[in-house]
Amino acid sequence: MVRSLAQWTKTLSFPARISPNKGSKDNINIHQISPTITPTPSSNSLSKNNEINGIMNNNLSNNDVNQIYPDPESEKAIMSSVVYCIHHKEGCKWSDELRKLKGHLNTCKHDAIPCTSKCGAQIPRVLMEDHLKYTCPQRRTRCEFCNKEFSGHALENHVGNCGYEPLYCENKCGVKIARRHLSQHKTSDCSKRLLPCRYCAKEFVCDTLTAHHLKCGRVPVSCPNRCEANVLAREELEAHLKEECTVSVQSCSFKEAGCRFKGPRYNMDKHLEENCQQHLTMMCTMVSKQQHQITSLKSALSRLSLNYSGTLIWKISDFSAKMAEARNKEGMELVSPPFYTSQYGYKLQASLFPNGNGAGENTHISVYIKILPGEYDALLRWPFAHSVSFTLFDQSTCPEKACNIVESFIPDPTWKNFQRPSKEPDSLGFGFPKFVSHEMLKKRHFMKDDTMFIRVKVDPSKIVAV
Ligand SMILES: [Zn+2]
Ligand SMILES: [Zn+2]
Ligand SMILES: [Zn+2]
Ligand SMILES: [Zn+2]
Ligand SMILES: [Zn+2]
Ligand SMILES: [Zn+2]
Ligand SMILES: [Zn+2]
Repeated sequence: MVRSLAQWTKTLSFPARISPNKGSKDNINIHQISPTITPTPSSNSLSKNNEINGIMNNNLSNNDVNQIYPDPESEKAIMSSVVYCIHHKEGCKWSDELRKLKGHLNTCKHDAIPCTSKCGAQIPRVLMEDHLKYTCPQRRTRCEFCNKEFSGHALENHVGNCGYEPLYCENKCGVKIARRHLSQHKTSDCSKRLLPCRYCAKEFVCDTLTAHHLKCGRVPVSCPNRCEANVLAREELEAHLKEECTVSVQSCSFKEAGCRFKGPRYNMDKHLEENCQQHLTMMCTMVSKQQHQITSLKSALSRLSLNYSGTLIWKISDFSAKMAEARNKEGMELVSPPFYTSQYGYKLQASLFPNGNGAGENTHISVYIKILPGEYDALLRWPFAHSVSFTLFDQSTCPEKACNIVESFIPDPTWKNFQRPSKEPDSLGFGFPKFVSHEMLKKRHFMKDDTMFIRVKVDPSKIVAV
């Protein structure tokens, strides 16, 4: 549609101060457009606006322009003319070059008209086409997923509910599936759905269930011995083979005693019955072997606890009872634990007669040392020549006031008691029949809590202790 320049000039108005044609060039054939042109009356401005809008929306093709302004120079000048917005009268303050008018109308708030589909919205003229096509609730449109036709309004309700819309499974299995199949997928196909193990009933993510079945303790298995037992749970198999399976091969329960019989469980009772005597003999042999072991362990233990220091502190408790016993029983002798003079030295033992012996009988306590057969006698020098001292401790609480009783001797090499002892020594030993008198024993603190301490010290240096 071709518009006459007059129609243009009617609707356009120009600010007086900024006319592009001030001192206009004569060769520009647009002298009608001047700052003095008065705006059209507002009564018909809408229809004129529509017209100019129509021109603008139709992109005012070059042809049109050429028909109006054949001269390109003139066209340029026109488009550079400064104009007011066509809604100037309604209050729009915009004014700029004509070429920017169309851009302005996109945003001019005075350029809105009611939607032509009568949805009730006010839409800027230039956005009407988009509105009718994409956003008008009255438009007819199709769902991109199911391809059904909807009014724009109905589509908004349909979006988010369309059964054909593909969605990712919420279980993160990676599957994309139409909404209408999703719940079916989640309950029966999804690889990430939870499923109970059919043996143990615990729940597992579907794609780990096979791995679980490989180790699930409740999976039924049959006995590898093919016994009469029914199907067992996998976790029960070990106990079954060990304790119940009648076919599994067992060792005789007298295995430790030396019976080598092995056979199926159902044969075991018979074996035990038939071999009673043999089993008993085996047990006896084993018991006596163990007895030997116990004896040698005991002696190893006592060797370990032996005293190798050459000094024995002999604690004699409950002395009054021992004394009373000695008075009624002639020759009653207490013996000390054996001890060695050094790790590979002589083995010695002290003895004490509470009621005396020989010259000290009934008046004194007598003490002796005797040499016992030791482990290393073959390597030692004989006769025994170490000095020996006996000390009875005064147990006074004040050490300065304590006064011990000490007796010592150096062995006489001619005396047979100091020769290498035989396996079965019966010798008395050597010592002091009148070590301490019964009178003296009551004095000081030699006895305390009915206990006395006697030290026996063996010294290879032969120096006699005083
Ligand atoms: Zn405007
Ligand atoms: Zn609409
Ligand atoms: Zn749909
Ligand atoms: Zn899934
Ligand atoms: Zn299971
Ligand atoms: Zn079995
Ligand atoms: Zn047996």
